[in-house]
Amino acid sequence: MYNVVIIGSGCAGLTAAIYAARANLKPLVIDGHEQGGQLSLTTHVENFPGFPDGIMGPELIENMRKQAQKFGAEFKAGAVSEADLSRRPFKITVGKDTFEARSLIVASGASARLLGLPGERELIGRGLSTCATCDGYFFRGKPIGVVGGGDSAMEEGNFLTRYASKVYLIHRRKEFRASKIMIDRARANKKIEFVTPYVIQNIHAPKGQVDAISVRNVETGEMRELSVDGVFVAIGHDPNSGIFKGKLEMDSNGYLIANHGSLTSVPGVFIAGDVQDHRYRQAVTAAGSGCMAALDAEKFLEEHKD
Ligand code: NAP
Repeated sequence: MYNVVIIGSGCAGLTAAIYAARANLKPLVIDGHEQGGQLSLTTHVENFPGFPDGIMGPELIENMRKQAQKFGAEFKAGAVSEADLSRRPFKITVGKDTFEARSLIVASGASARLLGLPGERELIGRGLSTCATCDGYFFRGKPIGVVGGGDSAMEEGNFLTRYASKVYLIHRRKEFRASKIMIDRARANKKIEFVTPYVIQNIHAPKGQVDAISVRNVETGEMRELSVDGVFVAIGHDPNSGIFKGKLEMDSNGYLIANHGSLTSVPGVFIAGDVQDHRYRQAVTAAGSGCMAALDAEKFLEEHKD
């Protein structure tokens, strides 16, 4: 029986683990499908406080893991297939193992949607990005493409014109899902060229780094070659909350809903990180919410010694 089981080993889960371990709660962290979460898929992180020269995403997350281990956190590889929250202790199933938990922190994150093109995943950090705030700075004075037609694509497109020499906003339809004000703002931006209705057919990276894309007009079949140094995929995120359907409160997009910090409608279950945040989605905000969840779990355990 564990005092705290933490689902997810990204920035939120590991920060929760550091706090819970330092409180002597000997937490168990279940890694999930993507050990280290989204930070493990980024390259240089320059906006995490404390690293004036930046730090590589995988190194930052590995440091957090070591820090949690140093204070006694345990780790288990694999993803949770079943969570019984109907009574305490909660029962968390990972493969053939079931763990009992007096309290639970859900920090299972969100996964950025990718286009599904061959080799796309390998190009993350080599010109392909799913995070404008994280990576925009690396494209100073360079042309880039942004894919998507929602608010994220508009927002990221606009944001990226601070750095990029030109932004091709590529969307598969002529109509946009984004709100009017965001579209108007993007249309008024002279650095943005709308490329619709187009899809990316190929991302070219002959030297391992993105240098062009081929886009296809979905109505006429016409092909265009765009010379770009970066491609930002902004087609939405999916919160990893499927196993909590009907068990924890969530919005229509599947994001878990927190009350009063990290609390949920189930006493003893706390939430942190991107699985409950579609607004900020930053490493530092995820870390902050992981800290909150651990402090809330500690307080809960103090009050429920049964
Ligand atoms: P979204 O609204 O779901 O939009 C995703 C966009 O990506 C859609 O235009 C969609 O095209 C396109 N898309 C999806 N799969 C694709 C694929 N495989 N290939 C090419 N295109 C694809 O996602 P989001 O923009 O991330 O926004 C999510 C939520 O956050 C929304 O509620 C949004 O309003 C909110 N948000 C708000 C702000 C803000 O207010 N400042 C900023 C960002 C996000 P189709 O339209 O053709 O389906």
